[in-house]
Amino acid sequence: MGTSANLNTIAIHGRSYVLAWVGASAAHLVAEAGAEDPARPIMSHAGAEPNPAYDFDELTNASWATRTLCGRGEWIMCPTEAGRAFLSMWNEREDAVLAPSCKRCLAILDKQFAEPVPAERLGWNVIRAMEQLQEWGCVHVLGVPADQAELLRKRLRVEARHRGWKFLSRVGDGYLIAASEDALSPERRDLVMAESMQRIHAVNSGAQLSQPSWRFAWS
Ligand SMILES: [Zn+2]
Repeated sequence: MGTSANLNTIAIHGRSYVLAWVGASAAHLVAEAGAEDPARPIMSHAGAEPNPAYDFDELTNASWATRTLCGRGEWIMCPTEAGRAFLSMWNEREDAVLAPSCKRCLAILDKQFAEPVPAERLGWNVIRAMEQLQEWGCVHVLGVPADQAELLRKRLRVEARHRGWKFLSRVGDGYLIAASEDALSPERRDLVMAESMQRIHAVNSGAQLSQPSWRFAWS
């Protein structure tokens, strides 16, 4: 159609939210439903006629959380210039609602996007990882708490760039692997190569190897 009105959604930090009323006081936020979560469409009221100003498929697509961020059920989309989601005597009589105003929804939103607090161990692990990078060109940190992994990666990247090193990293379930070839001096590079060859020979001959210093646990 192309002429349909836009739904009353806003994008915050790359996610969409419906502006919603529960009763008609504050404008709440309804998030897109996660893959595992119960979901409902914007238009879900028995006996209500959809407002033809909106795209019918968009109104009936069950992709929204059943509750507002602050936990209220039975929400309806706040009106836009085109009115409510369904035919109503109020359409064209009420003002469009353009922004959330529920303090609890806004507080929950703030918390969701707050930066994680660096753990006490973070600084120490950054120092240790940088030493290993300089010495071995790679580092493997195990047991990294989920909320610290990106912080650790960010701090290491900054440190590496300060030193003019290229930096490759990967964060997985409880671990971080990073490598930086230019972290090694030419002499160190030869040593590291020799050491790796030795380790490969040792593994091939079935020897038990000690943990290398570049692989260490978060705490
Ligand atoms: Zn709310």
